[in-house]
Amino acid sequence: MVSAGRRTVRVTADLDRCIGSGQCVLTEPRVFDQNDHDGRVVLLTDDLDAETAPTASLAVETCPVQALSVVPTNEDTTYTRRTTERES
Ligand code: SF4
Repeated sequence: MVSAGRRTVRVTADLDRCIGSGQCVLTEPRVFDQNDHDGRVVLLTDDLDAETAPTASLAVETCPVQALSVVPTNEDTTYTRRTTERES
């Protein structure tokens, strides 16, 4: 998962759109694979790190049927205590 401050991104795939062209696998084989049955994309991970994020994003851009997306997430395991009253 890539963090920019508290922002993170992950990749998703729409299997109804995927036509099994394999372009994503050629671009970023650490993130994408194809199943043996019909060749549709398999996500090896949906979390992107600093190494895989740029090439995964390129794979998203070059998918011929726009089956892939990089989406921001709001996962934040840091809890901030909000104080609205004066503590004693
Ligand atoms: S590039 Fe797109 S259509 Fe081709 S296998 Fe990957 S997700 Fe499917």
